[in-house]
Amino acid sequence: MRPSYHEIQIAAYDRWERRGHSHGGDANDWFDAETELTFFGHYRPIAEHSLDAGRVVLGDGPHRRCRFCERTPRQVDFGDPRPIVPGRRWPATAEICGECRGDWLDPLDQEFRRFWERLANDPHTPLSIAAFKAMAAGALAVMPAGLLSDFVDAIEWVSNPDHDLDDQLIVGAECLVYRAGFLHQDPAVTLYRRVDDDDPVPYLIYFLRADGMMIQVPLPMCLRDEDLDGRSVVHLARSPIWGTGFEYSAAHAVRLPLGVSVRRAPSRRIASAIAS
Ligand SMILES: [Zn+2]
Repeated sequence: MRPSYHEIQIAAYDRWERRGHSHGGDANDWFDAETELTFFGHYRPIAEHSLDAGRVVLGDGPHRRCRFCERTPRQVDFGDPRPIVPGRRWPATAEICGECRGDWLDPLDQEFRRFWERLANDPHTPLSIAAFKAMAAGALAVMPAGLLSDFVDAIEWVSNPDHDLDDQLIVGAECLVYRAGFLHQDPAVTLYRRVDDDDPVPYLIYFLRADGMMIQVPLPMCLRDEDLDGRSVVHLARSPIWGTGFEYSAAHAVRLPLGVSVRRAPSRRIASAIAS
């Protein structure tokens, strides 16, 4: 699971090359390489969708049912495909019914859009429970259908419009926000699943990359995470690797606890605390 010294050495050298061989960032190269290799020692991607690929509709098959209330088009009206990311038209899903949208999803979408706009201007914007649920709904919409049975509690939590009742269920939840100019490129949603079931890291992690930001949230209340038997869960950070030159070193992460403002702090320290 942990990368070897040799693996880190190669990846750090690769970063130094992509920085144009400029000096003075050796420690950062090493840290970034170790962070990223550690993440990919624990996780592999299971779903990825570009936000720029034009019309993509998920779950548009003949036997579809709503992922949240399990009703079929014979039982409830579904309407047009519903966007996965609030404010972005595609990808969309055909597996969320019109009643679920009206009852609880549309208000979550509005709250998420407010959160995202504020986040663009203030990196320490608190993550509200409603915005967190909106991202969880997106993760539930893109995950392979075979995994949904591990998330029955999460589905019930997301579709409960009363957020005040939810606080105790997600103690310790947090998200990470990465910011860099190069994160304007290739906007996408990606879902990562842990490689080893006994590994004390969250089973699924959802990433949304757009508008110069990338947000990382673990999907809470997974039944598979209950098998960890109270072992403390480690939240692993990413190290954005796509930048070059100045942009490369400008990438940084801020941790946002749920609904709580945080003080400004250097990203390196935060990321290493999470990774250790
Ligand atoms: Zn429904």
